[in-house]
This record gives sequence, structure tokens and C-alpha cells, in this order.
Amino acid sequence: MDALFAPNHPLDQSVAVMAARVRDRSDSLSAQELVGAALARIEACNADLHAFLCVTPEIALEQARAVDAAVQAGQDPGPLAGVPLAVKDNLAVPGAPLTCASRILANYTPPTAATSVARAVAAGACVVGKTNLDEFAMGSSTENSAFGATRNPYDRTRVPGGSSGGSAAAVAAGLAPLALGSDTGGSIRQPAALCGIVGVKPTYGRVSRNGLVAFASSLDQVGPFGRTAADARALLQAIEGPDDADATTRAMPSVAASTPPSLAGLRYGTVREFDVSQVPGGADAEAAVDGVRARLRAAGATAVDLSLPLVTGSIPVYYIVAPAEASSNLARFDGVRYGHRAHDANSLESLYARSRDEGFGTEVKRRILIGTFALSSGYADAYYKRAMAARTALRAQFDAAFKRCDVLISATTPTSAFALGEKSDDPLAMYLCDVLTVAANLAGIPAVSIPCGRDSRGLPLGLQLWGPVGSEGRLLDLAAALAAETGLGYEAPTGYGGPA
Ligand code: GLN
Repeated sequence: MDALFAPNHPLDQSVAVMAARVRDRSDSLSAQELVGAALARIEACNADLHAFLCVTPEIALEQARAVDAAVQAGQDPGPLAGVPLAVKDNLAVPGAPLTCASRILANYTPPTAATSVARAVAAGACVVGKTNLDEFAMGSSTENSAFGATRNPYDRTRVPGGSSGGSAAAVAAGLAPLALGSDTGGSIRQPAALCGIVGVKPTYGRVSRNGLVAFASSLDQVGPFGRTAADARALLQAIEGPDDADATTRAMPSVAASTPPSLAGLRYGTVREFDVSQVPGGADAEAAVDGVRARLRAAGATAVDLSLPLVTGSIPVYYIVAPAEASSNLARFDGVRYGHRAHDANSLESLYARSRDEGFGTEVKRRILIGTFALSSGYADAYYKRAMAARTALRAQFDAAFKRCDVLISATTPTSAFALGEKSDDPLAMYLCDVLTVAANLAGIPAVSIPCGRDSRGLPLGLQLWGPVGSEGRLLDLAAALAAETGLGYEAPTGYGGPA
């Protein structure tokens, strides 16, 4: 096997090429070799990056052997044949610990696979490990992990974003070409932006949540990370579609690639309320997106200026709805059924209280308190019901916007990756990392973050494409067309994987 990050390394090809080589019996590249190469990179880099909480060589190699055996038997092992896959540690992989980066789930191993994981594996992917996250996916930096922060491969003194920071860092560093994450308010798109890769928040209901540990069930979606739109699409295509185990899934047109849209005639919307040029530190992000808008106009696209006044309320609305649902979802962690149990409890009540006090971290407790308060009698109307009404009205504003344009274009985050520790003592500053992402979850619409160059510090920036319900296939077509037009795309961080 080549040196870890040698030029033309097999892991630094597109997923389509990688899988095609594994499926081609006349090519000597086996799934076991690809998986072995990913495991070697993880072993060399994880101490530094802490992208993985747990590496699963036995699982990955067993899956790789099955892929290689299928190839030898003349069967088709699937479109992701032999492709190493990193899985956020709030998704169930049987035989591997499922921690949600929380002490309360210590020693819990799930018996079955999340539907998204099972489908990716059925398509030939091999699970190389479970990635770090903010505890129960609550956060924007991966610093809320009970097991220590992940570092950004572009600058290891900075955060990778969150909550799926481990998955984003793993893909950006070339440790795995694909990763699964979850996005409740931005947790796929924000780390994708901060790590210079592609991340997709699918339409609510496209991907099964079965086997995803619930945070806020009306907002949560599982989605892919990849170095290119084509790679992310390959994973999304493998995991999408209705599932009897999740009643909120429904049939939608597949995200399969179609003819790339012509940029001439495209109507792209710029939402006044998403302009971050006046936000402290936001000038670079807006300027990068403006550069792409100029290229679009030069290619014949039409600009549509829009105002969606309700998006200014999306952070307050989200911080009622998400904690309300979380306070209910997290009630199941009581020290009885899963994970951590307090030793010195002398009554059922104190067993619950102590187990939860010892098991949950500060941010999770804060959310449970906010959510319980927002749902309590006398306050539910003032908070939860009002937030739900605002959410419905916000959805209507997006519907109206998509009558006037095909896609909305904004930055993904106001700033590039911030320093480790910079926002840890300021929950509100952390919440504001998601000002440009939470509205898509509230409205249930898809959004994709793609690389959009670097800021003045040389750190990656992201551009976000928003579309109507079911349009993520088109968003990915457009992402590919934009990358071709602008030349913007993944650039490996110094010292890590080569170009995909
Ligand atoms: N950062 C947001 C939060 O802390 C979103 C997290 C997510 O999408 N899981 O809730």
C-alpha cells in the first residue's frame, strides 16, 4: 500500500472511481485494501484530530471481505463498494458502542443498525468508526463532547464546527471519503463549511431517523458529508427513501444526478436577512458568496432580491422548539434502561436524579431546563405554541420565496472556524453560529453547504444552497455546476489527504 498521503492515493479519488475499481475484477484494488488504508490514516492522525471516538476495524474488515467475496463471485456489491464510511456516534452500528459523546450512555452497545447505516452498508460501504460530536448533538463546535474536542484539520487550534465535527474533520482530512451526520439546526452544514467540504441537510422525511438517537424529532435529519457534491450524492442516494421503521419518511423524487442545470436562466434569490456583511467577522463570508453571485450573473443567471422577515426570529424559535422536544426525548435516559447508573441512590427518585446529574453535561442540562420550562403549564402557550405558529409562518415565507426563484444562496456560517475555547463560556455566541442554518430545519426544506474559498486567515468558508421540499437532487446538480464554473471546491488541508 502507498504511503499514507502519497499523490494519487486510492482514497483520494472520487467515490465513484473508488467503488468502480473495487467492483472491477481486473483491477487489483480490493475493499480490504481501501479499508486498510483508511484505518492506517485514522491510526496515524486520530490522536491529533480526535475525529473518531471509536475505530471499528473488525466491523470494517468483515464488511470489506463480504464486498470482495461478492466481487469474486461475480455479484454486484453496490455503488459504494469498499468505500470507508465514518458514522456520527449518535447513529446505531451494531457491535460498536453508541455514546452520543455522553457519559450517560457509557457502555451501551445497540443491537441493531440505524436504517441509514444499514442501507449504506448494503450499498457496499464499510464502517471504519464512530465520530465525535457535541453531546447528544447539542452544540456547534464539538467541544461539548464528554470525551474531548475534535480539532479542525486546517488549523488544529480551531474547532471543526459541530455538532457533527468528527465526521466533517474525518472527511476533510481524508481519513474516510464519506461520513454520516445529523442536522437538527445546522450540524451537518456548519461543520462542512468550517472544514471546507460538502454537507447535505436533506428534506425532512427523505432519510429515515430509525436508529438515530433523537434530539428534536421534528427537526432531525440524517445526511451525508463528502469532499464533492458527487460523493455526497452517492451516499445520500444509498440511504434515502421511505422506511417502515420511521413514520415521518415519505417517497420523494430520488437525488440521482440529472442533467446539470444551465446557469443561464437560473433565478437565484438573495435574502436580505441572511446578509452577514455587517455581523462582526462576517464580511469575508459575505464577500465570498458575493463573488459567486457575480460569476452566476456573468453566466446568465438572474438575481432576485428577497426579504423573509421571519428568519430573523429563527434562532429564538429554534431554541424553544428544539429544547422542548429534547426535554421529552431525553427523559428516557433515567439510569434504569441504558448506560450510566448512579451507585449511591437510595430511592427511585434519587436514582433518576443522580444518574441524570452525573450523566449529562452542562449544555444538555441547560436544554432540558429550557425545554421543560417552555412546555410547563402556564408557559406552553406563551412559548411553545407561539414558536410553532412562527414556524408555520416561516414555512409559508419560504414557499412564497420559491415561487420567485429556483434557489436561495447565502453563506453557511457568519465566520470561519473559531478558536477552541473561544465561545465555550458564552452559550448565546455559540447558538448564533447557526443563524444561517436553523431556518431550513424549521421549514423542513433541504440545504447544501459547499466549499466557497478561504477567508483572510486561509480558513475554509461555505456557501449554502437552499431549495424547496424535495429539491436536494437539483441542489446537488447546481453545486456541481457551480464548482465547475467557479473552480471552487475541496482543497486538502496541509499534511492530510490529496485532492478528491
Ligand atoms: N448547533 C445547534 C444546536 O446546538 C444545532 C445542532 C444540530 O443540528 N444537531 O442545537
